[in-house]
Amino acid sequence: MSVRPYRDIIRRKSRQISVGNVLVGGDAPITVQTMTNTLTSDPVATIKQIHAIEEAGADMVRVSCPDEASTKALKEIVRETTIPIIADIHFHYRRGIEAAEAGASCLRINPGNIGSADRVREVVRAAVDNNCSMRIGVNAGSLEKELLDKYGEPCPEAMVESGLNHARILEDNDFTNFKISVKASDVFLSVAAYQGLAEACDYPLHLGITEAGGLTSGTVKSSIGLGMLLWSGIGDTLRVSLSADPVEEVKVGYEILKGLGLRRRGVTIISCPSCARQAFPVIRTVEKLEERLEHISTPMTLSIIGCVVNGPGEARETDIGLTGGGKGNHMVYLSGVTDHKIDTDGMVDHIVELVEKKAEELEAAEKSELLEASS
Ligand code: SF4
Repeated sequence: MSVRPYRDIIRRKSRQISVGNVLVGGDAPITVQTMTNTLTSDPVATIKQIHAIEEAGADMVRVSCPDEASTKALKEIVRETTIPIIADIHFHYRRGIEAAEAGASCLRINPGNIGSADRVREVVRAAVDNNCSMRIGVNAGSLEKELLDKYGEPCPEAMVESGLNHARILEDNDFTNFKISVKASDVFLSVAAYQGLAEACDYPLHLGITEAGGLTSGTVKSSIGLGMLLWSGIGDTLRVSLSADPVEEVKVGYEILKGLGLRRRGVTIISCPSCARQAFPVIRTVEKLEERLEHISTPMTLSIIGCVVNGPGEARETDIGLTGGGKGNHMVYLSGVTDHKIDTDGMVDHIVELVEKKAEELEAAEKSELLEASS
């Protein structure tokens, strides 16, 4: 029995696969991925974007391979980046083979869409020979005609059936190193499809609400859909689809996982909305701190609260706390305990210094724990 059972999430038991050196499924951490929007045939631009994506903490990244120039560039992209690359393939089985040979760690491909059994066999052989996994990606907007005829419209049952049909083709080729997604832009449809698929198989599931919208609306929609699924234990990896910079997708993905206690990364800021009682400009301070603390990946908590109404209570639960006080005297808490007072001038610089110092301490403690455990 855990101390706070109301926070427990019991994950669906999925089988585990490897996407390069990243494990997906089983008890592996739920991973965050995104997709580049540069031309893959332009390796310089794509590598630059992947570096920004890596910096933001993504566990893997998908790149489109619509033509031969893209799969040709893939080799260089794989060589110059660290995180596993997933090649997005539609219809062209040759691109799948080329991508696997170029070092992709996963092919996003629907075997039912690439033609004859021989072609499927060739792609599977290339995947096996190159230690490459796959993702079957069912999308409500591109369901097979037979399923639309059978069900009348895109519905959860049709999406599950589509996923299982593609899965069977790979199973018939003795290939099970894959995950499945059943995405729709409609939250209800997507969630019901994932719930159905979670019941029907034990393959790891890649979650996403497709074409979710812009930064704000897409974040809200994704948080509802992915939040609902993750909370009920469904999902092994995820992509938040936003009409925005891929780095934003990574940030939102992490925030969803952090909100549910499923991953921890970087500084989690707890801050009040501010009101007439604020003793310093809370909104501006939090904006500046978010920007200045982006480089910290060590998990820790920081509370920035405008006044004593909620400040001391929040500070008790966070690694570093700041509570606005009268006459510009704000209280700084370290590990939940009152430590010293500061005034508004230089407040942001001071908090950044404290966070950086705390991150160093936490990293050093983690390293010595690891050393102790290995000796
Ligand atoms: S903590 Fe204080 S400043 Fe912040 S919203 Fe509440 S009452 Fe207002």
